[in-house]
Amino acid sequence: MKYSDLCKVYEELEKTTKGLEKTSILSKFLEKIENEPEIIYLLQGRIFPDYNNQELGISTQLVIKAIARATGIEEPEVIKEFKKLGDLGKVAEFLINKKRQSTLFSKNLTTEKILANLKKIPELEGKGTIDKKLALIIELLNSARGEEAKYIIKTILSDLKIGVGSGLIRDAIVDYCYHPKSIEEKKAGIEKVQEAYDITTDFAEVFNKTCKNSLSSISLSPGKPVKVMLFPKAENIDNAFEIVGKPAAFEYKYDGFRMMINKQDNGEIKIFTRRLENVTKQFPDAVKYIKENIKGKSFILDAEAVGYSPITKEYRAFQDISQRIKRKYNINILEKELPIELNIFDIIYFEGSSLISTPFKKRRELIEKIIKPSPFKIKLAEQIITADEKEAEEFYEKALEEGQEGLMAKNLEAGYKPGARVGHAVKLKPDAEELDLVITGAEYGTGKRAGWLTSYDVSCKNNASLLEIGKVSTGLKEKQEQGLSFIDLTNELKKIIIKEEGKHLFVKPEIVITVGYQNIQKSPSYSSGYALRFPRVKALRPDRSISDIATLKEVEKEFIKQQK
Ligand code: AMP
Repeated sequence: MKYSDLCKVYEELEKTTKGLEKTSILSKFLEKIENEPEIIYLLQGRIFPDYNNQELGISTQLVIKAIARATGIEEPEVIKEFKKLGDLGKVAEFLINKKRQSTLFSKNLTTEKILANLKKIPELEGKGTIDKKLALIIELLNSARGEEAKYIIKTILSDLKIGVGSGLIRDAIVDYCYHPKSIEEKKAGIEKVQEAYDITTDFAEVFNKTCKNSLSSISLSPGKPVKVMLFPKAENIDNAFEIVGKPAAFEYKYDGFRMMINKQDNGEIKIFTRRLENVTKQFPDAVKYIKENIKGKSFILDAEAVGYSPITKEYRAFQDISQRIKRKYNINILEKELPIELNIFDIIYFEGSSLISTPFKKRRELIEKIIKPSPFKIKLAEQIITADEKEAEEFYEKALEEGQEGLMAKNLEAGYKPGARVGHAVKLKPDAEELDLVITGAEYGTGKRAGWLTSYDVSCKNNASLLEIGKVSTGLKEKQEQGLSFIDLTNELKKIIIKEEGKHLFVKPEIVITVGYQNIQKSPSYSSGYALRFPRVKALRPDRSISDIATLKEVEKEFIKQQK
């Protein structure tokens, strides 16, 4: 397809904020891309399916260079335009249009070419990588018209902002492939397509199979990440019973991070975080425990990895071990200093069969059979089954006394719903006012903190848009023995700058943090309409992505709860 045809659709989508209009534009467009389903990734502002976390790693500086080379304009001139327009996409559009004015231009850029060049970028390694990346981008810009250049740059910087989230793409697929005639038909279609997406996390595959009426062929496959099941909050034990039924399983809620443990038929083990990132290399200890202590040729297990002190054997908060997720060097040292224990709490695939429709109590029986527990390496989540409030209450107290975060209450008969927060299980925590939010901007500090980014704009989400809800500037020290310092965070944020305005900068929405606060207020100062009072950074969440952050609805719910 001509890239300019896709750009027209981007423009149409940008023009409206109405979900229904966007869905209708998208579903009409799907007809044109049935034979090229990967264009869906470009609509999402991506180049790979969602489960693929490869990053382009292109900085603002590199984009400035590419624009300068492609237009023959000096870099300082490009930077000047950037300061004026505030958006490198617009800068590319403006400068390329200026260059082309005098020349007749008839090159046809295709979506295929865009995908081909951009897909090569993350694979480049070693000497000359930067030049090779530049060459691939310049080649595209050289064949682009102004508006095409704008969208290329926006895609490269993950800054497309056309308001197309996964919900709209899903609905458009349903409309185009099923032509639902009633609300019921539409609902049923949405459920089917969403389910397929949660298993594959690949809209191109889902679109292709929905069109061919072969969604039933989609199944779990160890080695390919699936979305994890999510858990709503219960207010107390009574409320937990109301939601999950009686009797219920109660389990410790461990304060660690989610691991989806996959073993493929060929014996290979892969570990994914809940943001579908492959972290196997970072956890050779976990791989060893899995190999030695779990029976079975192929499986997918759901687990929580928890850190503990190698000296006192005391359990540690997530924040103290979070660096194990990202760190790719000195792994053997980290493994010794920040050891982890695996708490297995579910299984969704075993020896060639999916277990997502198998009742939870049967899944639990299976993990009890195949896992040989070994203290401080691997164990089953601590569990009781009861219909008695008092017994559950005592178990809750015991969990808290032992330093766990709380309890999970689980319906014994329910299946496993990847990606969904359906209430097959709920979480119970003593009232902690905290939200997972994404950093969308930051500001340099003053005085002793000059030169470091020490204040962070944080946002929640509403469908495909991000809405600011406050600025956080406490909770981080200059140096921290474990976990997070503002020096570390500054370095991370500098890699993802989109735009700078004096002391303030805007960043790609990639870094998720847990923010603690005292209460929520209505506030016209932020686009969410709310502000957090006394916010502080509690933890960096490298295991979570923008799809895990708090929604505006959740913020509203917390606000209302607090008013009561
Ligand atoms: P939250 O992160 O507050 O939404 O709580 C849900 C998270 O608790 C899950 O995503 C898991 O990472 C974690 N968790 C800890 N223990 C368990 C357990 N026994 N069963 C399920 N999830 C657990």
